[in-house]
Amino acid sequence: MAPPVFRFAPSPNGFLHLGHAFSALLNFDRARKTGGRLLLRIEDIDATRCRPEYEAATYEDLAWLGIDWETPVRRQSEHLADYRAALDRLSALGLVYPAFESRTEIARLVAAREANGPWPRDPDGAPLYPGEAKSLPAPERDRLLASGRPYALRLDMIAACRHVTGLTWNELGEGPDGERCTVPARPQAWGDVILARKETLTSYHLSVVVDDAIQGVSEIVRGQDLFHATAVHRLLQVLLGLPEPAYRHHRLICDDEGRKLSKSSRSTGLRALRAAGITPASIRQLVGLG
Ligand code: GLU
Repeated sequence: MAPPVFRFAPSPNGFLHLGHAFSALLNFDRARKTGGRLLLRIEDIDATRCRPEYEAATYEDLAWLGIDWETPVRRQSEHLADYRAALDRLSALGLVYPAFESRTEIARLVAAREANGPWPRDPDGAPLYPGEAKSLPAPERDRLLASGRPYALRLDMIAACRHVTGLTWNELGEGPDGERCTVPARPQAWGDVILARKETLTSYHLSVVVDDAIQGVSEIVRGQDLFHATAVHRLLQVLLGLPEPAYRHHRLICDDEGRKLSKSSRSTGLRALRAAGITPASIRQLVGLG
């Protein structure tokens, strides 16, 4: 049997913190324990926020932690043609439409809907797409596209869900002996998610699914904050005919106030901890892997 394949997939939009260390170490330990492979993927499709110095710092911090990974590293910005092909496939199924509202217009539409009662929110708390671009008459859609207006390409969730029945994923739980279960996936909870934008022909959801398949990732170990997003990933996997990996969503490392760490919380940044004389062994202890 082929060895299991793991990946750590940070975005180089800041320095790594304890939460990343935990996730990377879990992947690394698990790969070692199972005789598996550990891949590293740089999720750098957001050109406005990602910077080469953060990518360089990511390699340095991971190596300092004692982690090693296979090379070459996959950098998403170098594989836009792969995402484009997936998007074309979804478009060919008639599941993608351009929506031209700006963020401000969307906020206005949501406020208008909320005048009549609560408007549904996705599992991350953001309002579902309230617009009606899906039913724009074709000539109007073509006119807007030709006018050069920015747009987002959205997945027609209702139509997409008609292609699947009994969608689930295999959840293995955090630890090596985590509790296995089959989780019913409800991608509908996310509404018409964005798959790409005019200026970036992909999105987190689309690229992650395409990359995990291309890289042959068999076990995805990542934070609990992405638990619900897995429903969208499973839907895209089925629509695109991609293999199904297993998932292991782990607890999040929080600050003293119980908030999830962010890249701007300096005190928990690996560089600051290292400068303060903390060793990789104590980082393991700090995240509960000692
Ligand atoms: N790039 C994502 C992040 O840094 C992780 C994506 C994933 O593990 O699926 O949060």
